[in-house]
Amino acid sequence: MTLTSEQIDRAAGVLLGAATGDALGAGYEFTHPAAGTVVDMIGGGPFKWAPGEWTDDTSMAAAIALVARGGVDIGTEEGLDAIASNFVAWYDTKPADIGHQTGSVLGHRSSTAADMTRRAASLTGRTGGNGSLMRTAPVALAYLDDAEACTRAAEAISALTHSDPRAGEACRMWSFAIRHAVLEGSFDGVRLWLDVDGDAARYWRPLLDEAESGEPKDFSNNGWVVHALQTAWWAIVRADQDGPDHLARTLELCVLAGGDTDTTAAIAGGLLGARWGASAVPVRWRSALHGYPALTGDDLVAVAVDIADNTGR
Ligand SMILES: [Mg+2]
Repeated sequence: MTLTSEQIDRAAGVLLGAATGDALGAGYEFTHPAAGTVVDMIGGGPFKWAPGEWTDDTSMAAAIALVARGGVDIGTEEGLDAIASNFVAWYDTKPADIGHQTGSVLGHRSSTAADMTRRAASLTGRTGGNGSLMRTAPVALAYLDDAEACTRAAEAISALTHSDPRAGEACRMWSFAIRHAVLEGSFDGVRLWLDVDGDAARYWRPLLDEAESGEPKDFSNNGWVVHALQTAWWAIVRADQDGPDHLARTLELCVLAGGDTDTTAAIAGGLLGARWGASAVPVRWRSALHGYPALTGDDLVAVAVDIADNTGR
């Protein structure tokens, strides 16, 4: 498929938007900033980030994106194996901020995606963390030409570390919506997904309704994938700016909502970047961005555009 210049800008914004939210929220993780706090890319936080440095959310998204950029279909066994291998390579750097559930799975250092998925499925207790939703943005870029393959791959990549059905559904919804936003320039994909995924819709429709009418305290357990998605959607719907400024305002609202701020802002940021494009990310934020694996904000833009170009071939 041939993309217009607007669609290319929106594709370019997917990883950049997610990383911007991630690095913005990193300095406020596990806090509840007071009303009126001026949110900026301050770094710090519990893991002492440098200003502009992104966290595990973007590092894991990059692990997926780099496989897609290599031209491998990320939904195939070959693609999933390569993603699993990148996850283990990242784990081996001993990242400070790895999520509990992801750490439990990657600690086995599986050499195949099938083994990693089995390890994830064998976990007991609370397995619905937000750690697969936070990294799902690049999946949409690899399947701009195929919505069904997009959601199938999103679920398989989620299952590498997160077996909870809600985590898989959230990744399907959000990847579907990001793809739709790149192509159409709207947020309508979130609700459109309910029409194509009927069984899951019965669970998610009232939760989207609640996000639109509620407040962050109604979904404050945002380390859980459901409340994380609701927080991101609440911020997108509630941000009072129209046009590209909506991106920055929404990310600020995610941070002000408190809790797992880097992740709720990264989740929102992937969809915001897809809707408003790389051009909507303030330059001072874009130029500060950096993180594992030794990439910058400009690199994320280049990777995203390459993946979208691959889709077109
Ligand atoms: Mg993080």
